[in-house]
Amino acid sequence: MHLFQHQQIKIYNSLTGEKETFKPINEGYVGMYVCGPTVYSNVHLGNVRTFMSFDMIFRYLKHLGYKVRYVRNITDAGHLENDADAGEDKITKKARLEQIEPMEVVQRYTVDFHNILNTFNFLPPSIEPTATGHIIEQIELIKSIIDNGFAYEVNGSVYFDVHKFNETNDYGKLSKRKLDDLIHNTRELDGQSDKKNPQDFALWKKAEPQHIMRWPSPWSDGFPGWHLECTAMSTKYLGEQFDIHGGGMDLKFPHHECEIAQNEAAKGKSPVNYWMHANMLELNGQRMSKTTGNTVNPDELLSGNNKFFSKAYGPSVIRFFNAQSSYRSVLDLTDDGLLASEKGFYRLMDAVNLLDGLKASETSTIDVNTWKQKCYDAMNDDFNSPILISHLFEASKYINQIKEGSETLSAEDLNLFKTTINIFVFDVLGLENASKSDSGTDKLSGAVDILIKLRQEARANKDFALSDKIRDELAEVGIQLKDGKDGTTFSVN
Ligand code: AMP
Ligand code: ZN
Repeated sequence: MHLFQHQQIKIYNSLTGEKETFKPINEGYVGMYVCGPTVYSNVHLGNVRTFMSFDMIFRYLKHLGYKVRYVRNITDAGHLENDADAGEDKITKKARLEQIEPMEVVQRYTVDFHNILNTFNFLPPSIEPTATGHIIEQIELIKSIIDNGFAYEVNGSVYFDVHKFNETNDYGKLSKRKLDDLIHNTRELDGQSDKKNPQDFALWKKAEPQHIMRWPSPWSDGFPGWHLECTAMSTKYLGEQFDIHGGGMDLKFPHHECEIAQNEAAKGKSPVNYWMHANMLELNGQRMSKTTGNTVNPDELLSGNNKFFSKAYGPSVIRFFNAQSSYRSVLDLTDDGLLASEKGFYRLMDAVNLLDGLKASETSTIDVNTWKQKCYDAMNDDFNSPILISHLFEASKYINQIKEGSETLSAEDLNLFKTTINIFVFDVLGLENASKSDSGTDKLSGAVDILIKLRQEARANKDFALSDKIRDELAEVGIQLKDGKDGTTFSVN
């Protein structure tokens, strides 16, 4: 057993609603599955937040010495519009609109997803399986569910029989819904459905003639239901029962509820010991949504080219901002919040960059072991990164005190202190080193601010030729000035 596995982690389990002591199925090993993106458009920052939280959890488990098999899928088939059981496949729709092949859509947005994750310093998962690569496994699962009496075929489509399942199992146990309430609250939309009951969900859909993404099956040429792929891929790579399953809060129902039902119906086992749900990202107090336009994508935030924020923010600042609240809290993305995080991030980095120059003394006036355990305790408490960061700020205060000579550390303690800071700042939080003075974007913004001031002076002197020249020539090199009621801001293309 690795040195650090004695650290007892508690995980908030959405299934029980309690923080539970984490005990992996196989000592020393962790199996973790996180629902990945549907690759039909650019990932938005909400997606990034969820994956970032699980990246930090993955990093911490690895640091503790667990052998983690982290599976994060790519949804490249079967996810219909509005998460429904009828309508067009999200990927096919995009392909039709852009007049390209569905697999071109998949390729384009998978590449975009990976680029974004690299920019934000994500660790790659151990396996990144695709839905289209696991059609056979999904068909086999459907056969088992039918054989066990929990699914039925109608006109080439197969549906999961939720009512039948609920006679012996508990449909709704994760999302705390009762089937009776679901029945009461379901509107029958058109009465055209083949389903026995509106609560039933599709395992296999027969493809309409125009539906391009289709595979042969015992029931029809068609495609799998969206919930099925995660059951097929998680059990294939992690076993019929595994340790952790994560995703965003919005997936709890119906997606994760259906995953549990499928697994219980096919294998008679509840698949997951710890269900973890990351909370939503908001933008200026409102849910991020592409349809209302209240959304900003990662590139726009990184370049400053957006209508919401006063400047560009670096990837580590955004990671730091995310880690400053618990993965279970709603996080509101605001300019004030990002500015504060940026300040905090550089304050921490400036302290970290002093570490190498610190000199050891004969004795220690700081109890490094106690401080170090506080860092572990924070992460052990359901990955409480905001508390961890408060201890890292305490450490940066110590760093400055040691530099000034008002506190001292022995050589051994200084070593431990440095190692622990590096572990938490870089390995666990996944931040990348930076200092305010060497940040290119900050130098650029300093320089543009000077030009904005000169332009204001030119305008005040009625020298409009000069003020326009400054604006136009900046535009030529890709820097757009925007005059607003609170002054002039800029964005970089
Ligand atoms: P999707 O591509 O829509 O299937 O979503 C991929 C992941 O991002 C899922 O785990 C979602 O729960 C998560 N997600 C979607 N929207 C948000 C949001 N606004 N905030 C946080 N996570 C989100
Ligand atoms: Zn999933």
